Amino acid sequence: MAMESIKEMYGSLVFGDRVMQERLPKDVYKAVKATAENGTHLALDVANTVAAAMKEWALENGATHFTHWFQPMTGLTAEKHDSFIFPAGTGEVLLEFSGKELVKGEPDASSFPSGGLRATFEARGYTAWDPSSPCFVKDGTLYIPTAFCSYGGEALDKKTPLLRSMDALSESAVRVLSVLGKKDVARVNTTIGSEQEYFLIDKEKYLKRKDLVMCGRTLIGAPAPKGQEMEDHYFGVLKPKVSEFMHELDKELWKLGVPAKTKHNEVAPAQHELAPVFETANVSVDHNQLTMEVMKKVADKCGYACLLHEKPFEGINGSGKHNNWSISTDKGENLLDPGKTPHENKQFLIFLMAVISAVDEYADLLRLSVATAGNDHRLGANEAPPAVISVFVGDELAAVLKSIEEGTKYDGNGATKMSWAHVLPHITQDTTDRNRTSPFAFTGNKFEFRMPGSSLSVAQPNIALNTAVAEELDKIYEVLKDVPDDKMDDAIDKILRDMLIEHKKIIFNGNGYSDEWIKEAEKRGLYNLKSLPDAMPHLLSEKNRELFKKHEVLSDVELESRYEIFLENYNKEIHIEALTLQEMIRKDFTQGLVSYMKDVTNEALKKKQLLPSLPISYESDIINTLDDTSEIIGNKIHQLRDDTERAERIEDNLEAARFYHDVILKDMDELRTFVDKAEKIIPDGYLPYPTYGQILFSLR
Ligand code: ADP
Ligand code: MG
Repeated sequence: MAMESIKEMYGSLVFGDRVMQERLPKDVYKAVKATAENGTHLALDVANTVAAAMKEWALENGATHFTHWFQPMTGLTAEKHDSFIFPAGTGEVLLEFSGKELVKGEPDASSFPSGGLRATFEARGYTAWDPSSPCFVKDGTLYIPTAFCSYGGEALDKKTPLLRSMDALSESAVRVLSVLGKKDVARVNTTIGSEQEYFLIDKEKYLKRKDLVMCGRTLIGAPAPKGQEMEDHYFGVLKPKVSEFMHELDKELWKLGVPAKTKHNEVAPAQHELAPVFETANVSVDHNQLTMEVMKKVADKCGYACLLHEKPFEGINGSGKHNNWSISTDKGENLLDPGKTPHENKQFLIFLMAVISAVDEYADLLRLSVATAGNDHRLGANEAPPAVISVFVGDELAAVLKSIEEGTKYDGNGATKMSWAHVLPHITQDTTDRNRTSPFAFTGNKFEFRMPGSSLSVAQPNIALNTAVAEELDKIYEVLKDVPDDKMDDAIDKILRDMLIEHKKIIFNGNGYSDEWIKEAEKRGLYNLKSLPDAMPHLLSEKNRELFKKHEVLSDVELESRYEIFLENYNKEIHIEALTLQEMIRKDFTQGLVSYMKDVTNEALKKKQLLPSLPISYESDIINTLDDTSEIIGNKIHQLRDDTERAERIEDNLEAARFYHDVILKDMDELRTFVDKAEKIIPDGYLPYPTYGQILFSLR
């Protein structure tokens, strides 16, 4: 692709800054920018002008409709398309789009999860334009990113609390910067770059498996003779068709202004990754949602199915979404960049310590922010980070922190005794220092949170992280705000030391996958919340309620509604899996099993008729094994059916979630063991669905 054409293509379907500058009167452009950056109210006449320009631009780019695009608690995006047409009465048609339509929408909200919120308040919901995330044209429709709230203003989506958490963090960070002498910063932005893992498999094969189609993951399937043990896929040469897919995907994303940057093969066969360049948090979240959607669409066009489930295949690495996170000022300074001078170091150390403390204090919240039925299969399963949260800082920073704790000077080689005020370390930005097993790692000038699952909206963990860091920054501010200038250095040293002593238990630089670490973590008193039902009750703890309330990110009722929704989603997902598994075994697997048993029996009978002395021990062996196994499968499938019916009758969401986790998942696992055992014996051709080997090693 010629360079010019990439340049022309990039953002060509986005109503972005360049287009706005070209098409809006100067004062209107300024007003929109002010709204986007500081949330200032946009007057209706200004909105009308913007809407008119937007409509013209969208029509030129092939749009016939517009939609408010929002992110309800389903984890997906939602849209309702309205056309621009407006009958003029004379048989003619006008194309209209008003400021009011741009700014506010009223979708029928009653079918989106609300966790009881709407019952408490109003049945109606509304969507409100988020001018800080650009509008775009996709498939003939103008998309307007919006927040989704109940009529009383309660958040029904993931964008609203994300925006609130970004504001909270900004306020707290600006205050701390101002005590540190940096008074010209008006806004601090959260930045995110989320690396997205996914599987690509053949579409025809995908369509033949009910478990993949209904649940996004395989519920049965014996392992193929080959897995990922050869380590030959990671960063391996891209297959030509896969490469074509990636190229097409890049182009589609670039047109939409999504800065897709890196692509490579991942650890598991058929697994890949896409990493974008980082952006402001809410834009990055919107872009990640778009990325997942476009991935599926382009895959379909290329004859693939794109799997975003956290654990599509047993025994093979699942997929995650590394959340790279940092904060930077409106002047463009990354506050997690160690910098070169001691002065910068102090500021860096304060923000670093705020993050470390936040992760320690709110580890439960971070853990539950990534808890889903899918991700539960991944965390702690020897591939992704463990369910225990810890922070990796690397050897050099660890030494710096040690010198702070002990009041010694760090000189790069070891520590020498010095008085407090002289702890002025120089820290190099060492990005090569990587620990891939840590759930929360400092990587040079940002943190990488590796627990989110591949299908998760990254809004969730970032809401928790932003708010928790805001709270820790507030604590720092409270200590430093009245300290006179000449005492400031000492006061900073002291608070860094105090916080470090309190929170150093969260720092761990070793192997996060080892059993020793899990034991050690328990000794340190760290959380080990293994599953969603373990984690979710923490959402409503006094500490976490206070946090969200104080920073005006989520009210009590909003939090309670989310709690119910997360549990409900978990229960529904496993319920669907339990039903799908039963159906797939009864209809598809049994068909293969029975016809193979019949054929083998007939073969044996034929042999006997031909010559009674011919041995049939091989055939009998097969029949006996399959016979035994199928009897157990029959019993276990009844058990699963009965337990699923019991689960359906449990009214309390948490109680039900525990039952799904402890009983239903266990039933499913046991059942699967025996189905997989039989599948190992049955030739592929007898099964009406493709096996692991056929799916994982058939990509061209
Ligand atoms: P890797 O982790 O694969 O070695 P990088 O460290 O270069 O790769 O970047 C991984 C991701 O981190 C990319 O999406 C990148 O844009 C993002 N990233 C880099 N700097 C920041 C930052 N300051 N804030 C948020 N994300 C960032
Ligand atoms: Mg990374």
